[in-house]
Amino acid sequence: MLNLYDTATREVGPFTPIKKGEVSIYVCGATVQAAPHIGHIRSAVNFDILRRWLNMSGYDVTLIRNVTDIDDKILQKAAQEKTPWWALAMKYEREFTAAFAALNVLPPTYEPRATGHITQMIELMQILIDNGSAYAPGNGDVYLEVRKLHRYLTLSGQRIDDLMPATDVDAASSIKRDPRDFALWKAAKPGEPSWPTPWGDGRPGWHLECSAMAHTYLGESFDIHGGGLDLIFPHHENEIAQSEAAGYGFAKRWLHNAWVTQSGEKMSKSLGNSLLVEVILQNVRGIELRWYLGSAHYRSMLEYSQTALEESAVAFRRVENFLKRAAEITGSLPKCEVSTSFAAAMDDDLAVPVGLATISENLRLGNQAITDNDVSEISKNANEIRGALEILGCDPFDKNFTDFRSADLSQAMDGVIALALKERTSARERKDFAASDAIRDGLLALGITIEDTAQGPRWSIMEKS
Ligand SMILES: [Zn+2]
Repeated sequence: MLNLYDTATREVGPFTPIKKGEVSIYVCGATVQAAPHIGHIRSAVNFDILRRWLNMSGYDVTLIRNVTDIDDKILQKAAQEKTPWWALAMKYEREFTAAFAALNVLPPTYEPRATGHITQMIELMQILIDNGSAYAPGNGDVYLEVRKLHRYLTLSGQRIDDLMPATDVDAASSIKRDPRDFALWKAAKPGEPSWPTPWGDGRPGWHLECSAMAHTYLGESFDIHGGGLDLIFPHHENEIAQSEAAGYGFAKRWLHNAWVTQSGEKMSKSLGNSLLVEVILQNVRGIELRWYLGSAHYRSMLEYSQTALEESAVAFRRVENFLKRAAEITGSLPKCEVSTSFAAAMDDDLAVPVGLATISENLRLGNQAITDNDVSEISKNANEIRGALEILGCDPFDKNFTDFRSADLSQAMDGVIALALKERTSARERKDFAASDAIRDGLLALGITIEDTAQGPRWSIMEKS
């Protein structure tokens, strides 16, 4: 029985889906305004582990992760770079997709873009205006009237009277009925993209997007809403406010992942460049970065350091090497089997650190079995490790990861050819031309050509004709 934490109740409790055997999940995705860093990807990895565990537990999972492709930051950056906003958004959306793939994050069932759902947003605003929950002051903005809500701020546990004015638009506060009312829709500004609505031209507020897209793909009520801890307020509170004011049940449970921190602080953008996924993947493989990001409990902060990442990668290679040894010894790939201890850890609010301890124990027993030449014990431990790695998304035999060995392979290839060329050079020096030609012809047969240059021999791979 799966137990999960719920941010709304602050308790771990049994998870029962609305529909038997099916789980519906909405996770807030990226605002595509910059390249992905490991903080972004940690969230995707955490929810991917949840999804894989639900799949393994027999559920049919529908997971929606949206793309926010219109936003103040996108517009500002596009203006600075003198590029169309949609070109900037597409560029970074592709970078996110590549980073998710590099870390073996399963593609969401559907991945809606905000700008593709303007009609649904207008329909939702119409419902809210018709039932008196929202108002359009006439300048093109549309606001949700927070004082009219039956409940508000239940996730973050704040009092409405303590709330600062909502500053999501720079409209004069006199337009609003209450300074805490937040924008569903923002009036068009000169030079900015806009869409027509019955209340004037404008563009969506961020919160409205997620309420509209969750409703489109998952209906009025769904099982789990997820996102990073920083989204609880205002984003998720405002999603709840809009959707509940429209009469929807909305999310039954809220899961929030903690941050990747540096010196205890949320990764800041100024520090973030060195933590871009693309940069980190120059030093470790995707599977190793995934292992590291998934290793902490999803509700615990992950304090990043280069040393911690490298140590984690070394630990992973030990597990990986055991699986490869086991495959050689037994003559077949390990099967994916989930041990009861690993399953118990996952059922306890996805307690990955406890799960990792069960993997360590399997590793210890498996290596002992290699020493003892106990093939059935080797198989048992290898199968259980592979089953656990499959759920963590770190199965080294997963074909999704094969590409990410290419850096290693080309390095190894360089070394092997250098060795062959050294042999060829010494054969020529001792005037053993038969041997030097044999090496050259052998390489040629493999499609590798050698060119003698002033700096020494250079190799290249022939184009296939
Ligand atoms: Zn959202």
